[in-house]
Amino acid sequence: MNKKIWLSSPHMGGTEEKYVKEAFDTNWIAPLGPNLDAFERAIEAHTGCGHAAALSSGTAAIHLALILAGVGPGDYVICQSFTFSASANPIRYLGAIPVFVDSEPETWNMCPQALEEAILACRDKGCCAGKPALPKAILPVHLYGMPAKMDKLCALAQSFEIPVIEDAAEAIGASLNGKSCGSFGDFGIFSFNGNKIITSSGGGALVSQNKEAVAKARFLATQARDPAPHYQHSEIGYNYRLSNVAAGIGRGQMEVLDLRVRQRRENFETYRSELGGIPGLRFLPEPDGTFSNRWLTTLLLDPEQNGGLGREHVRLALEKENMESRPLWKPMHRQPVFRDFPFFGSDCAEECFEKGLCLPSGSNLLARDLERIIETIKKTLKK
Ligand SMILES: *Cc1c(COP(=O)(O)O)cnc(C)c1O
Repeated sequence: MNKKIWLSSPHMGGTEEKYVKEAFDTNWIAPLGPNLDAFERAIEAHTGCGHAAALSSGTAAIHLALILAGVGPGDYVICQSFTFSASANPIRYLGAIPVFVDSEPETWNMCPQALEEAILACRDKGCCAGKPALPKAILPVHLYGMPAKMDKLCALAQSFEIPVIEDAAEAIGASLNGKSCGSFGDFGIFSFNGNKIITSSGGGALVSQNKEAVAKARFLATQARDPAPHYQHSEIGYNYRLSNVAAGIGRGQMEVLDLRVRQRRENFETYRSELGGIPGLRFLPEPDGTFSNRWLTTLLLDPEQNGGLGREHVRLALEKENMESRPLWKPMHRQPVFRDFPFFGSDCAEECFEKGLCLPSGSNLLARDLERIIETIKKTLKK
């Protein structure tokens, strides 16, 4: 059997162990300590996203951002449908109603037109037996590291005075017109899960220009303890802080973030130059002003232009060679768990799901790994 090639595996830079060892040597084996502080400062410095609170996961960061935006039971929250379920689950933790919105074909992210439609429908008619009301938050995603059309989305949100929570879980290191993903909305979130472009083994961050809001996030993430000598609580709290040990890994990873982005972008360029000529096979180009981190290289394959061969043919051929690939995210409005919630838009997300595949994209792929993957795809599509 050939060596397994993963979709996206962790890639240590070298200093992570030193920071973890420091945590042991100084006995900061706790959800506070020097690594945690340094990790937060590094996120702030690198992304220009204002203030950062390091948390146990990206999902926890979305949950806290929704709470800070004032979302409660029965409120509408507009969410990009084409995403990983972790974008939408926290909306349900709070008993709020997710209102799903389609993507546009240039970035595969939230379609401004469908967003406007959704806002007006909530405001004027209401949905899911709810009262007519403006949504309490809008949650666009930068899928696969490709920046969403934040200028248009934020302008629309602003005109209705609705807070924006940017799910940049997949997009640390990506930017739009020189401004980092995660810095456009009222809140941004990052994920440092094991399969992301950099990792703290598991972890996330909430970022915002609003210093008080981030301080409040840290407060809520540590059980909402009031300042008193005894344990006193006036609010419901959460145990969402990142461990100082894990933060040591994240701290080391921040030092190689730029390099990892370069390496992922090189993977994309290699795939595109080798496979771009195959009929019916397309890659998503970067629109003007857009800098993707190319977390995962994704392609669309139209079987009608390729003798009936679709993304499943390619996926299974790769699997046979012990190479992991994966269909694009199945849209939330098509998921059994979210079936009863409204959707606005057309079939962009759905078509991406039907035709799309994520290729092995780790920054630790070797040239000969890439060659093997590319050869397998070429062979499969020549039949
Ligand atoms: C990974 C991911 C999350 C969740 O992050 P975790 O750290 O795994 O909780 C949220 N949204 C998107 C789009 C993601 O890819």
